Amino acid sequence: MLPMSLLQEIDLFNEITMMNMTAKKNEIDDSRKKQKLNKIAVFTSGGDAPGMNAAIRAVTRAAIANKLKVTGIRRGYQGMIEGDFIPLKASDVSGILQLGGTMLKTARSDEFRTSQGREKAYQQLRNADIDAVVVIGGDGSFTGALVMSQEYGIPFVGIPATIDNDMYGTDYTIGYETALNTVVEAVDKIRDTARSHGRIFFVEVMGREAGLLALNSGIACGAEVILIPESKEQHEELKKFLKKGYKRKETSGIIIVAEGDEAGGAMKIAEDVRKEHPDLDVRVSILGHIQRGGSPTAKDRVNATRMGVAAIDALLDDQNSIMIGLANAKIVAVPFNKAVKLNHSIDTDLLEIQRLMNF
Ligand code: ATP
Repeated sequence: MLPMSLLQEIDLFNEITMMNMTAKKNEIDDSRKKQKLNKIAVFTSGGDAPGMNAAIRAVTRAAIANKLKVTGIRRGYQGMIEGDFIPLKASDVSGILQLGGTMLKTARSDEFRTSQGREKAYQQLRNADIDAVVVIGGDGSFTGALVMSQEYGIPFVGIPATIDNDMYGTDYTIGYETALNTVVEAVDKIRDTARSHGRIFFVEVMGREAGLLALNSGIACGAEVILIPESKEQHEELKKFLKKGYKRKETSGIIIVAEGDEAGGAMKIAEDVRKEHPDLDVRVSILGHIQRGGSPTAKDRVNATRMGVAAIDALLDDQNSIMIGLANAKIVAVPFNKAVKLNHSIDTDLLEIQRLMNF
């Protein structure tokens, strides 16, 4: 993804559209419903994120409330290629709102990246009489949707779901809030040991290219240093912290490391610190896939439900190749080509705040 310039930001702002929600069944003006929209499909793609089920439920129920038929595609684009489809009724999505993971399963598909793979997928959609598709996933999934829509004219609307919260044009992606709370809970526990033994813990959190999860969890846990791919200066902060009269066995520290940090992740950084400061008791904890699981928080459930309803609204309004987002707590529509090309920038004020807290 490219870094965003101010001009791009202004340009994008002009393309993000506020959406008026008309989700309540009784308020829907039937004339808005296009004749050609009869059956939609919904699927999850890329990495799983807590709240995907809430989004599937919202899409399914909003569609049925609007007299549309709904098909669930299992296992992402690979399932689309193989025709792994299931009909969804309102009752089929009962009891999933609070569950992590995705009832439709998710996958990554190399075959879909080929034109032959997409042709097979298109034939499967045609055979199943699917008129439009809602894709729940990250920027890769939206890129695939954009390519297929351009090749075959199938309308796609996206719902952003990734624990990285790195999609441009939306303040939130589904799953981020839950993952953030999971990290905070885990680090609070690690802090107990760090304090009791006077240890420095390097805690690695997910985020290959985006450090937002690391940054916000670090602030929420009172981390002494936060290392993220977006800021090289943070390594100076680590040096300062280690130099700052750190007395073994008398104090402790939590260093949060985003897995994509350029210095090579928590293991490598801790190894370097051990060599330089053999007197320190340095430990590493890699939180790993625990961050993707669990019951979604209330906020993720609400956001997923709002976005799911908005996705159906957008299809009924004949929109295509857009991602539903939330900007300043309002539902917005962001063109796929913008959402996948630009970065959700880090608020550098947060780094300043973190430094101030450890002054
Ligand atoms: P996450 O943020 O969790 O990684 P994602 O949606 O970005 O989610 P990807 O693995 O990047 O996950 O993409 C999901 C799938 O989308 C890929 O496995 C592939 O099938 C499809 N896809 C991605 N990029 C393209 C592309 N350029 N052309 C066609 N299909 C694509």
